[in-house]
Amino acid sequence: MSDKNPIEKSDAEWRKELDPERYQVLRKHGTERPFTSPLNDEKRKGEFLCAGCGEKLFESATKYESGSGWPSFYASLPGAVDTTVDRSHFMTRTEVHCAKCGGHLGHLFPDGPQPTGDRFCMNGAALKFEEKK
Ligand code: FE
Repeated sequence: MSDKNPIEKSDAEWRKELDPERYQVLRKHGTERPFTSPLNDEKRKGEFLCAGCGEKLFESATKYESGSGWPSFYASLPGAVDTTVDRSHFMTRTEVHCAKCGGHLGHLFPDGPQPTGDRFCMNGAALKFEEKK
């Protein structure tokens, strides 16, 4: 779907570039323990970027407190993320990944707040915050 240039790197390159926690989430579909990411409590104005490639994914204006223990947003930036159906762990969920580098970010659930009703349930380890005043 994307008009961007997808980033393709070998597993060895990603492993070298990312710290172990980010590598586990972004490249191995990992899930961080809830309530562990400092980004969970991030309330400043700014942008949340992909920790793999630096692409802008979410605006702070769409972040909300879902109570899940993971940073949650009701919308992504247009075209920034793609989704696939994830049937692992005996569930059918919608997996969310960065449109540019393919890094796994988290899952999308249909129980978010208005105006979208979406809940992008993201791993903080997959994101970097950039404050914007
Ligand atoms: Fe990315």
